[in-house]
Amino acid sequence: MNNPLLQNSDLPQFEKIKPEHILSAMTTTLDDSRDLIKKLENIEKADWETLVKPLELIDDRISQCWSPVRHLNSVKSSDELREAYTACLPLLSDYSTEISQNRKLFNAYQSIADGAQFKELNGAQQKTINDALLAFKLGGVDLSGEDKQLYQAIQKRLSELTTEFENNVLDATQSWELILSDTTRLKGLPEYAVSMLLQYAEQKSLEGYRVTLDMPCYIAVITYADDRDLRHTIYQAFTTRASDQGITDEKFNNADNLVEILNKRQEKAQLLGFKNYTELSLQTKMANDIDEVLNFLYELAEKSRPAAKQEFEQLKDFARQEGLEDELMAWDIAYYSEKLKQQKYAISEEDLKPYFSDNLVISGLFKIVEKLYQITIEDISSSVQRWHDDVRFYQIKDSSGEIIAKFYLDLYARNGKRGGAWMDECVNRYVIDGKIQLPVAYLTCNLTPPIGGQPALFTHDEVITLFHEFGHGLHHMLTRVDVPEVSGINGVEWDAVELPSQFMENFCWEHQALELFARHYQTGDPLPEELYQKMIAAKNFQSALQMLRQLEFSIFDIILHQQKEIQNEAQIQSILDNVRKKVAVVIPPAFNKFQNGFTHIFAGGYAAGYYSYKWAEVLSADAFSAFEEEGVFNKETGQRFLECILQQGGSRPAQESFKCFMGRSPEINALLRHNGIEE
Ligand code: ZN
Repeated sequence: MNNPLLQNSDLPQFEKIKPEHILSAMTTTLDDSRDLIKKLENIEKADWETLVKPLELIDDRISQCWSPVRHLNSVKSSDELREAYTACLPLLSDYSTEISQNRKLFNAYQSIADGAQFKELNGAQQKTINDALLAFKLGGVDLSGEDKQLYQAIQKRLSELTTEFENNVLDATQSWELILSDTTRLKGLPEYAVSMLLQYAEQKSLEGYRVTLDMPCYIAVITYADDRDLRHTIYQAFTTRASDQGITDEKFNNADNLVEILNKRQEKAQLLGFKNYTELSLQTKMANDIDEVLNFLYELAEKSRPAAKQEFEQLKDFARQEGLEDELMAWDIAYYSEKLKQQKYAISEEDLKPYFSDNLVISGLFKIVEKLYQITIEDISSSVQRWHDDVRFYQIKDSSGEIIAKFYLDLYARNGKRGGAWMDECVNRYVIDGKIQLPVAYLTCNLTPPIGGQPALFTHDEVITLFHEFGHGLHHMLTRVDVPEVSGINGVEWDAVELPSQFMENFCWEHQALELFARHYQTGDPLPEELYQKMIAAKNFQSALQMLRQLEFSIFDIILHQQKEIQNEAQIQSILDNVRKKVAVVIPPAFNKFQNGFTHIFAGGYAAGYYSYKWAEVLSADAFSAFEEEGVFNKETGQRFLECILQQGGSRPAQESFKCFMGRSPEINALLRHNGIEE
């Protein structure tokens, strides 16, 4: 057998995997799984050994075949790869629906839960059984006849629609470019950004400067370009991606997908006996019900709104003083905000960038977690197959020198790579018959690439992004749970998943942490104290406005998924408009179709769950306050965080893990304090 996806290797053979391997590997794997499950359906006495253990093995095999495919489709997309990937989606969706609707398997799990063995199982095993029972119910095991088929059809359609949604966003993003023959219109842009645009043009064998909608490019232009028309143009292109409003191609319009995705989700929720999709979504969350979530969001909004209004008024005044004659428009906000920030705090992102060069940031990040959790991290990139030369590969050792995890790190923005930053599982920690399968993670970012032979210089925001994803990575990799369904981030309630990631962001502001990596890339000088003080002073610049933006998205998401039926695109817009009326201080222009590119909720896992960021930020801010009190690098506090939270994964409810660390339930104060909104 020559298919690299079917060979039993410890790590994916990225150099050998070709699009033509994908469909046949998945078909074979799923068919084999079905045969094995047929046998399991008829076992006489179901227990952990006879039922759960073999099923875990089956799941793990599927995951190891599919995970590299899903990953490659995100980081090294091509038409052939996408086609093969898309062809597998209905197969996977069918398979997963079949399993969750398999009555015999459900009964077998139920008999374990009801039987005498259950009490003898450890916590992780018990949680696995309970999670599985819930998954069966949410997967439609109780449905009969036609309803069962209807459910299957909905799942299949949803999988197609969400993929199409995401593809449209990626294609719309990549289809747009603006070629400038000289730098006249690029006045105001920092030198690195101009070089980046030159490099973008060179990569396509073009003359001049190529402006794209890649994150590093968009941010640079919208923040620094003096040319107001250019800012307007890029803002319009960016915020109308995948819509009918745009200057990007209308064939990528997501309007119909939006409507159908929402209706299919409602249909599914109602079929399962829920009032609406939000109610269904909250079944697997830490939050108890919709009221609790909405009250939480509105309370934060109410506390942030007065400060946000002030921040916006101040910005408008400033723009006027700077000579802006007409109204402050959406494409002026980042530009004048940056100038105001410079005036108030005499600090610009550009001042900081020389202190955040890629290799120093990475080694500093490693030193921080090495201090906190008594681990060591080693670069072993040359020992494995990678999908791009820029990708690095590392192993983590615990205090006794034993290897406990590995990870890939793919840092820079590049063509063919999906936008954003994320952590994904490559291999799950799993102990089978005493043999440990080590966890492996993919950490993917779209940070500013190295330009003109210099090391890559990051903005502070980019450093925060890297720390954030690394926090997810640690959750996946430092787990000590042996059962794959609840090891690492598996089985963690979705609204608690961002705890370890947002927790890590705090270190980007700590003096003692910055000392470990913020050094000038040319001179090696540490970040000057004066610059650090300015950075801290500017930390909460417009934080209330940012808070409101996140709350606006969160509330929109919850309410949208509460609707019984969505008639058309206009209805979605009017829901969004109403939320903005209630919550927002800044109202974007009518052409802005941000929702058409809102992949988190329409293509990712955040449907009726975008609030999770804020929810978990309460947890992470609160948890970090223990480090503020006990010492940022306090070994005992680090050890407690490791043992109570990171190592536990989804083996118990997040509330319990939090209480283990803090000795009490979460409180909202630390979040408001960190944002400078309330003392
Ligand atoms: Zn995250």
